[in-house]
Amino acid sequence: MSENETTLISTPDLLMPRWEEIDTVLLDMDGTLLDLHFDTHFWLEHVPVRYAEANNLPLEKAREQLIQRYRQAEGKLEWYCVDYWSDQLSLNIEVLKQEVDHLISLRPDVIRFLQSLANAGKHRILVTNAHGKSLSLKMRKTPLGDHLDAIITAHDIGLPKESDEFWGELQKKHAFSPDRTLLIDDSISVLLSAEKYGIKHLRAILQPNSKLEPDPHYRFIHVDRFTEILPITN
Ligand SMILES: [Mg+2]
Repeated sequence: MSENETTLISTPDLLMPRWEEIDTVLLDMDGTLLDLHFDTHFWLEHVPVRYAEANNLPLEKAREQLIQRYRQAEGKLEWYCVDYWSDQLSLNIEVLKQEVDHLISLRPDVIRFLQSLANAGKHRILVTNAHGKSLSLKMRKTPLGDHLDAIITAHDIGLPKESDEFWGELQKKHAFSPDRTLLIDDSISVLLSAEKYGIKHLRAILQPNSKLEPDPHYRFIHVDRFTEILPITN
């Protein structure tokens, strides 16, 4: 058996975090607690429609132009900034998001998982690259806010999570021990930067977008349903 094959097998033993060694759980929002379908649909379907209308372009041309601009901002804080895109595209991104906000939805078993973390005495911190305006829309559309102990955005820190300096800055704002912390995130580049910083317990998400096929990366253990990793409490 090759090394990759060994790593890809998710036995329940490997999948289950060592909860006795963890007291803080850093949770990503889009693609982890929420279905990434909303965001994918928004940027690849809805914005192109409105951009095409505003600029008198055929839809395919509009989409092509937008994808090029998205690529230039990828991994940077601007990529996540509602105001940046409103300004760049001369569209009101906040209003456009509201037009399709019925697509915002929780991934399966999220509330049960967050409740069980609280029951097990774990500190639940949402750590998201999302801009404040996207965050407040998602908090209005879901009950997530009632099940978190703290919320930190990359905009509060001034760096995206992909940045190696992010985690040190986060620690200054909100104390946690990297070796007693679990990060759950659907972004491989975010997991890699957290690992480099020394966050010991890491899990990826098998299917961040319910409408797309899973695309696992051999480097991390992937969670499919949160019920697979519920901490056991007595
Ligand atoms: Mg994410």
